[in-house]
Amino acid sequence: MTDAAERRLPADVDLEAVRAALVEWYEADHREFPWRETTDPYRILVSEVMSQQTQLDRVVDAYEDFLAEWPTVEALADADRADVVAFWTDHSLGYNNRAKYLHEAARQVCEELDGDFPRSPESLQELMGVGPYTADAVASFAFDDGGAVVDTNVERVLYRAFDVEDDDEAFETAAAALMPDGRSRVWNNAIMELGGVACGKTPRCDEAGCPWRRWCDAYETGDFTAPDVPTQPDFEGSRRQMRGRVVSALTEYDDLALDDLGPRVRVDYAPDGEYGREWLRGLVADLEDDGLVEVDRRDGEPVVRLRR
Ligand code: SF4
Repeated sequence: MTDAAERRLPADVDLEAVRAALVEWYEADHREFPWRETTDPYRILVSEVMSQQTQLDRVVDAYEDFLAEWPTVEALADADRADVVAFWTDHSLGYNNRAKYLHEAARQVCEELDGDFPRSPESLQELMGVGPYTADAVASFAFDDGGAVVDTNVERVLYRAFDVEDDDEAFETAAAALMPDGRSRVWNNAIMELGGVACGKTPRCDEAGCPWRRWCDAYETGDFTAPDVPTQPDFEGSRRQMRGRVVSALTEYDDLALDDLGPRVRVDYAPDGEYGREWLRGLVADLEDDGLVEVDRRDGEPVVRLRR
């Protein structure tokens, strides 16, 4: 890792383990999208331009309709611009300029480049409307040869997991340092999937089986704010997570006194602090009401165990 990268990621982070955990998590299960089934750069460009302003689930129909109408870059280059713009409007895909740029990019490929789609992020950026993010995405997903992509999902993950400073350059440096060489296709898909399904504005760390929990700063401290989540997200979400941690700590031990359980639930547990005995008693009482744990007393102190 370079000095610059070291400044952006915690010095002791085990990069190989972090990478392997995320790729394994992604490969075990992920959302199916039609653009993940292809390496055709034209199709991938269409999906990227469409998803800039539209929820991915809604993009699927538009993407399939668009490709039914214009299945190849040549077909799009030959289309009437008015038809492409009308399609964009009919499918509520946001700014019409994106349709114009996409059409123009198809013409560039066909007329200026003899139908040879550019491959590198630098040459892709020569196409109309293609910025650094889209260029890296197309180069990665089509040719497995892009740089690390950074969008708001990726920023949120890096900020929470590795406490990366809220600064464009810091995010880019950290994202590049994390990406394994020569694996941009799977890596960029995986980190965006993590931001989309596990590390959303309300995180689902345990429910989604986030592979980075053991390294994640936010998971350790319980502070899930992020650049696009300025206040602590959905308290119930965090509380659910804390309940999950109580249960997993008790799975490892027969029983635990409150002050032994507390630090296994939150690293900042302090018996008399904000997240101390009183807070933990409330959490345990909820779990007891739900029939998940039982509480006894030993030497006058409450002791918690899983209900068998
Ligand atoms: S543990 Fe939670 S907060 Fe941390 S990266 Fe995973 S999903 Fe995000």
